[in-house]
Amino acid sequence: MSTRTTEDAVWDALRSVLDPEIPAVSVVDMGMIEDVKVEGAHAHVTFLPTFTGCPAIAVIEDDIRAGVKNVGGVEEVTVTPSFDPPWTTARITEEGRAKLKDFGLAPPTGEGPVLITQIGLPEVAICPFCGSKNTRNDNAFGPTPCRALYYCESCRNPFEQFKPI
Ligand SMILES: [Zn+2]
Repeated sequence: MSTRTTEDAVWDALRSVLDPEIPAVSVVDMGMIEDVKVEGAHAHVTFLPTFTGCPAIAVIEDDIRAGVKNVGGVEEVTVTPSFDPPWTTARITEEGRAKLKDFGLAPPTGEGPVLITQIGLPEVAICPFCGSKNTRNDNAFGPTPCRALYYCESCRNPFEQFKPI
């Protein structure tokens, strides 16, 4: 393991930093980490906030800083949010998608027809349990500003859906 760098160790640490909005997935699963650079004992992490308007950005920043600070050889951590490139749900890893599904949260599929209403919710949400599109929006505001609550008419399970950006 002599080829293992501090940079690798930082990535490992980030894999245990959970998304405060969705504690089932890490910031790496969510595809939020854009860049990791280590110069001497100074680690720079650039992350892409998932949902603008979510109050979690400062929390994620603190969590990343705390997680990376524990890495051996790292004394200083700079965490920079970036909106370039913008985060999209396409950045969620395969592993992240599987975890979201286990968590009962449907990753946005990008499958049409997705009609955007005035409040930005998809008209059609696909049930993560049975794959049915026969679902209805239960609560436009959802449990958090980033998620909406749906109910599947086919298997009668409630589930949550990301609000698209
Ligand atoms: Zn269902």
